[in-house]
Amino acid sequence: MRVLSHRIPETGARSFAVLVGDLAITAEQLRDEGGFDHTDALLDTYWLLETEGWHERLKEAHARAIKNGAKGRPMTSFTPAAAIQTPEKIVCVGLNYHDHVTEGGREGPARPLIFAKFANAVIADGEAIVHPSGTHALDFEAELGVVIGKRAKHVAAKDAIDHVAGYVVTNDISARDWQGVKKALGEGETGDGQWLRAKSSDTFLPVSAVLVTTEEVPHPDQLPIRGWLIPGSGPNAGKPVLMQEANTSEMIWQIPELIEYISSVITLEPGDIISTGTPGGVGVFRDPPVYLQPGDRVRVEVAGIGGTDNPVISEEAAAARR
Ligand code: MG
Repeated sequence: MRVLSHRIPETGARSFAVLVGDLAITAEQLRDEGGFDHTDALLDTYWLLETEGWHERLKEAHARAIKNGAKGRPMTSFTPAAAIQTPEKIVCVGLNYHDHVTEGGREGPARPLIFAKFANAVIADGEAIVHPSGTHALDFEAELGVVIGKRAKHVAAKDAIDHVAGYVVTNDISARDWQGVKKALGEGETGDGQWLRAKSSDTFLPVSAVLVTTEEVPHPDQLPIRGWLIPGSGPNAGKPVLMQEANTSEMIWQIPELIEYISSVITLEPGDIISTGTPGGVGVFRDPPVYLQPGDRVRVEVAGIGGTDNPVISEEAAAARR
């Protein structure tokens, strides 16, 4: 099943729809014509995941709605929202692709390197990434995101996928100077000593709109993953430049091992996101480095799952919009 999160233009409220091909049946249609009546669940996908047996119920409601004559609307007529806008937790994995480890001239960590982002960082496909004026080294990271569907504590790798609702695409926006990446530091500059500001500033996590549930993705460890930079100026202005191209098979720790490791100390709840790390090709380790500038756009994609395409704007431009 593919669950599209979207915003209702008139009210700005979030809702969801079930996609079959490119046609979406909305939550209202699922309620009115499919008999799916779970008031909280109708709000957005996060609450949907809290509803007992949501997957089966939604499937049944979808079939009933179609039988009762519900007509699908093209996906492109919706305003995308992040698949999960308010996760309780966003657990990110650093250095989880061999080529990303080696491009940084580093050793792979002995165990998964995990860190956190907050929900303030989450934005939807198409929304603006705000370039903070205090960083000169803003970077992108195409990643596969895992959305938890069932509480997970001390879950063995072999059982881990039972706790996954589905998959999304994330872009782990990072301020490399604040992160303390040596190559990004100017004379006399130091990093923050920890990664919170570098990784969780507002708008630093674009999340795709469609949650693709596990039964549609039998091999999440075999998905092509790509990232493009579309410069706003210079010789390539407006032309997508492929920056990252890899496959999730290149992950050092696959999803089951990550869930086993994380759930050994953190209870994962429905709606939590695990962002599984990025492959090589990020901006900071290029020669010369390539950093995001206001006016640029950045696009990330995982085959079969979806993607995001977000403009980068300055803090001043963001303030003017408020
Ligand atoms: Mg990352």
